Amino acid sequence: MLLREVSYARPASVDEAVTLLSEHEGARALAGGQTLVNVMKQRAAAPDVLVDLGALDELRAIAVSGSTLEIGAMATLTSLIRSSEVEVTRPILAEVAATVADVQVRNRGTLGGNICVNDPTNHFPPLLVALGATMTVRSSAGERTIPADEFFVGVFETVVGEGELLTRISVPAGGKGTGDGMAGVTLGAHGTYIANAAASVSDGAWRVALGCVAAVPVRATAVEERLVGTVDEEAARAAVEGLGATLDPPSDVHASADYRRSLAETSVVRAVLQATERAKG
Ligand SMILES: Cc1cc2nc3c(=O)[nH]c(=O)nc-3n(C[C@H](O)[C@H](O)[C@H](O)COP(=O)(O)OP(=O)(O)OC[C@H]3O[C@@H](n4cnc5c(N)ncnc54)[C@H](O)[C@@H]3O)c2cc1C
Repeated sequence: MLLREVSYARPASVDEAVTLLSEHEGARALAGGQTLVNVMKQRAAAPDVLVDLGALDELRAIAVSGSTLEIGAMATLTSLIRSSEVEVTRPILAEVAATVADVQVRNRGTLGGNICVNDPTNHFPPLLVALGATMTVRSSAGERTIPADEFFVGVFETVVGEGELLTRISVPAGGKGTGDGMAGVTLGAHGTYIANAAASVSDGAWRVALGCVAAVPVRATAVEERLVGTVDEEAARAAVEGLGATLDPPSDVHASADYRRSLAETSVVRAVLQATERAKG
């Protein structure tokens, strides 16, 4: 299906992009276009102005600043896979990017687009919550920083409002004593997740987040509190006991709610064991 007529702008700076987004009601940022163009073709979205971020090289940078990995919103999934900064600080980001869809989607799709869409089955929302990332959003009023825990607010909905632009994702750089894991069940190789969990341990402190069980990633705080000391399989299984009963996941053609509860528990155990191994260095 063809796109309906739409105005198109290709700003040369972040300031110009923010001005365009705030001046035009119904303007939408265009990143890799992997989701936006498809939903426009299906008439599920009909922006009046597309603000193409493609010329904003400053939003593509991936750099380590002090103890933080700074990732520009326009960094593609392929650039995460190829980044030596990611490899050294938080390799889980590259590993997960490599499992998303296919080469075209990874070459065009951006980390910023992935999280701004907030499709509950997307890989990065739960991962960034588990890693304790923060997001920087720019508007004509200035800049604000939002923890990943508060960034996602509903299905296809984040705190990024009209006239705002996500510019940066900041992830604490891992180091000795840090380990990350992500596990789940997908619809075929490189497919969409049915359920997943991401886990991260840093000096014995855990963060665990679940995907596909609610509109937004769910922190498993009770599990985090039970994960103390050396975590072997028995300890991980004990920590997740009862987790499923606290969840209210959707039931659909791919999995019943009960099956998703069970997958969520198994995914947490696997992600936690993966993170434990990696934290050993
Ligand atoms: C066939 C296919 C399969 C896929 N499978 C998976 C999968 O299994 N797992 C997964 O995680 N992902 C999957 N994706 C999604 C993909 O990884 C991209 O993340 C996604 O398409 C959005 O990224 P994009 O850069 O293309 O964003 P776009 O499509 O350009 O934009 C998406 C939305 O985000 C907004 N936006 C983008 N960037 C910004 C910004 N900087 N500031 C404010 N708003 C912004 C846009 O306005 C738009 O509303 C799949 C995509 C396709 C096409």
